[in-house]
Amino acid sequence: MAVVAALTLAACSGDRGRRSSARKPTPAAQLMPGITSAPIRQCLGRLAEQGVDFQPLPDRDFGGGCLAYGSVKLLDVGTPTTNLGAMTCPLASAFSGWVRFGVVPASRAWLGSEVVKVETFGTYNCRTINGIGATGRLSEHARSNAVDVAAFILADGRRISVKTDYRSADPGVRGFIKAVHQSACKRFATVLSPDYNAAHNDHFHLDMGRGPFCR
Ligand SMILES: [Zn+2]
Repeated sequence: MAVVAALTLAACSGDRGRRSSARKPTPAAQLMPGITSAPIRQCLGRLAEQGVDFQPLPDRDFGGGCLAYGSVKLLDVGTPTTNLGAMTCPLASAFSGWVRFGVVPASRAWLGSEVVKVETFGTYNCRTINGIGATGRLSEHARSNAVDVAAFILADGRRISVKTDYRSADPGVRGFIKAVHQSACKRFATVLSPDYNAAHNDHFHLDMGRGPFCR
């Protein structure tokens, strides 16, 4: 049952509703124990070594437990990606590596065409997991620690989406989807796909919270 409890922390809300930010901000030290500037600096150094272009963001506390600490905005990971807002440095690092070493090679191998754009539903979002009221537990999105990936555009014009192609009968498409999912599970703490629940029927939820969990 501990696994189930951990999962409810990571999952997304179906409606992507916003949470009230009227509460008083909570001191960051209470929310993210163990986070100091040194690990963040080290992560930023590793991110720079990965050859990605990014902009460090100022720490923000939006209240109600929603915050963006040690976060960056990815400007160029080698493949254009839509809707990327604040991401924690470890999330940005995992995502950059996944696109470059997981997604792009898998598209060449399985589809004979390279992914030229990744479409996401976004990163930071102050919301609870199930989106019901302000009393539910916060999603990893509320800590800029998750990204929802919806689709991949290929150089030949095809669009492979989680919603329509996750259970494709085409062996190439199926192989590609399986490869990017497996690659994600090696890089992120939690990966949730349409196999997890109906709320994830149209995207891969990737986060650096609790884990490992891969479904
Ligand atoms: Zn999500």
